[in-house]
Amino acid sequence: MPVAENWHNGGMHPTPPHTRRRLAPAWLLGLLVLFCLTAPATQAAWYRQEAAIMGTRVAVELWHTDPGAARAAMDAVMAEMRRIDAAMSPRRPDSELARLNRRAAHEAVAVSAELYDLIARALRFSRLSDGAFDITFASVGHLYDFRRGIAPDEAQIAAALPGIDYRQVILEAGHRIRYGRPQVLIDLGGIAKGHAVDRAIALLQARGIREALVSAGGDSRILGDHHGRPWMIGIRDPEREQGSAVVLPLDDTAISTSGDYERFFVRDGVRFHHILSPATGRPARGARSVTILGPDATTTDALSTTVFVLGAEKGLALIESLPGIEAVIIDAAGRLHFTRGLAPPAAARPPFAPAPATP
Ligand code: ADP
Ligand code: MG
Repeated sequence: MPVAENWHNGGMHPTPPHTRRRLAPAWLLGLLVLFCLTAPATQAAWYRQEAAIMGTRVAVELWHTDPGAARAAMDAVMAEMRRIDAAMSPRRPDSELARLNRRAAHEAVAVSAELYDLIARALRFSRLSDGAFDITFASVGHLYDFRRGIAPDEAQIAAALPGIDYRQVILEAGHRIRYGRPQVLIDLGGIAKGHAVDRAIALLQARGIREALVSAGGDSRILGDHHGRPWMIGIRDPEREQGSAVVLPLDDTAISTSGDYERFFVRDGVRFHHILSPATGRPARGARSVTILGPDATTTDALSTTVFVLGAEKGLALIESLPGIEAVIIDAAGRLHFTRGLAPPAAARPPFAPAPATP
């Protein structure tokens, strides 16, 4: 971590008489003293704030010369995250999304441009992945309660499964949305945190901030670098509470990880976790952890969930077909896979390194 600088501490020592002749004229010294007295205190440093929002840990770190402006920027990020949560949480009965879920099977519902655009973007990831990413997973997903260890039985899944179909989310003119079937429910849990991180970064950029890291759970975005060096971002080893499977040196990028260790319970030796295969309504089994790198966090968030559902082989093929996107996958057997863009070129410094084991 860089050390905080404070230029007020330098250069104001009394000067011995024999050096006086080499000093600037008195009027210049007077101006300097006046400037020192009136200039605001600067404190160039990294500033950090954390909060529990959207059911996860939100953190913002940024480099700033002014503690007051740094705090105001971090407060604004947290306020933006809370605003998005209030609009897009399906569990808050008064959210815009909950209202849409209650009414859209009966009539076309007008929503905000922000919600409309995010749902439109989610549907594009559904088309890209032939339905592996599907926000209507919630038609079955709402029957799970990972905190209380509840999963639907066969009959419940069979009854709710027809509600999973992104083609039943119909976008109409005037930012209106309609569901084509009565059972359809949507949940933006696989894309909304990335969207919130992107909004936060835009807000920091508008305030002139050039170095920052914003994360919401497994979705992060880095603005600039860590003062001339890359950020070292670890990807958790699914087998260990602490410790990384891989550490990536990164700057100016978004990174999202989806893991089966985030939200889960184990019953009769079977792990029930929060990423569902839309085809079956049951937890996807093709991977343990998927990390995606890309230009923005909305994209990396949606793609990490997508590739988790597709599994290592199909997921890698999809990511290799997308320019500017890279992936690190830990498959069901614990093996690591990298896209070609992350593979170390011969005779070059590897862009990734195994993390030292932590005891
Ligand atoms: P996290 O929420 O831990 O950051 P992810 O980004 O992988 O993890 O998102 C998982 C969330 O995505 C789930 O909690 C759920 O809300 C949603 N989800 C689960 N399965 C799907 C799916 N097949 N398509 C789209 N979203 C999904
Ligand atoms: Mg995701």
